[in-house]
Amino acid sequence: MRVLIVEDEPGIARMLERGLVASGHKCISADNGHDGARLALEEDVDIVLLDIMLPGLDGHEVLKRIRRKKPGLPVLMLTARDELPSKVEALDSGADDYLTKPFAFEELVARIRALARRKDQPNTSALEAGDLKVDLLSHRVSLADKQIDLSSRELGLLEYFMRHPGQVLSRQQILYAIWDYSFDPGSNVVDVYVRYLRKKTDRPGVPSFLTTIRGAGYRFDPPQKD
Ligand code: CA
Repeated sequence: MRVLIVEDEPGIARMLERGLVASGHKCISADNGHDGARLALEEDVDIVLLDIMLPGLDGHEVLKRIRRKKPGLPVLMLTARDELPSKVEALDSGADDYLTKPFAFEELVARIRALARRKDQPNTSALEAGDLKVDLLSHRVSLADKQIDLSSRELGLLEYFMRHPGQVLSRQQILYAIWDYSFDPGSNVVDVYVRYLRKKTDRPGVPSFLTTIRGAGYRFDPPQKD
């Protein structure tokens, strides 16, 4: 895999590069946020290791730029031990995972492998979860064999949920993934669209497959087959 390392501490960057190359990966690196964002967008990389405290743009800003253009590119944030709010922010703003420094190298390699698996697997146009079926090419959605008409925004939202089953997704995360980042983060557009989706997919006597997690966001649980 081709790994982009965005890390300003030369010692850590060298350690990462050496270890990853030894594990059979190819690396390119940047020691500041501007170069990191540029390389992530211009180069054909499979995964980004992104430090948070960086000269130029910080890691959060780099992540936002990546998410706008390459929403599917896996990003693993590297955080310092005392940066807990940053971790939450990292996941909120669309990082796929984070690792606290100092970390064992095996742990890093394992996370990279897991992210790569996640990336390879769901790139199909036909999604199925329980009795919910979505064909992204033909825009066809059915629930328990009943056709449902969704707008493309609703379909995008449903697709995002279906690609992250059982996972709590924050409003921020959904906002970055489905709407442009330029959208006002204080907007309730996510809630509005979740309501639309529920309205179109709710069945009498069956709980919605979209659960509201108070203070956190939403979770999609595949609807049970009858
Ligand atoms: Ca740093």
